Amino acid sequence: MEAEKIYREILRKRNLRSTRHRTAILAELEKSRFPVSAEDLFINLKEKNISISMSTVYRVLDTLVENGLVIQSNLPGANKAVYEVNKKEHHHHLICIKCRNMFSVEGCPLSEYEKSLENRFGFSVKGHTLKIFGYCNECNKV
Ligand SMILES: [Zn+2]
Ligand SMILES: [Zn+2]
Repeated sequence: MEAEKIYREILRKRNLRSTRHRTAILAELEKSRFPVSAEDLFINLKEKNISISMSTVYRVLDTLVENGLVIQSNLPGANKAVYEVNKKEHHHHLICIKCRNMFSVEGCPLSEYEKSLENRFGFSVKGHTLKIFGYCNECNKV
């Protein structure tokens, strides 16, 4: 139950009451290799015999997003949002245009580029997002 203790601590720091549902959802998102939709989250929790309703999943996700613990992204062309734990480290996304899965990539190759833009345009860079589209390893096999 080590992980659960960590989530309780994270919630406490944000002055959020730690509820069974909040820690379960954080744990589930943390475990996932890629961002998941609320529906998939709901199914995964049900499979673990955690009793939760779809509306509670949405409510908990909203709270976690509002408090910066979880990031919500919308996949282009798909009308559903996906969620992932907000790791403080900056990262990028690979988006498969076939299965619509989104994979997080740690690390960033753009800091030199940002510096050169600052020099060239006298522009003070505060951040960027980068989404890379293509076919994932699984979809490449088909
Ligand atoms: Zn794919
Ligand atoms: Zn970056």
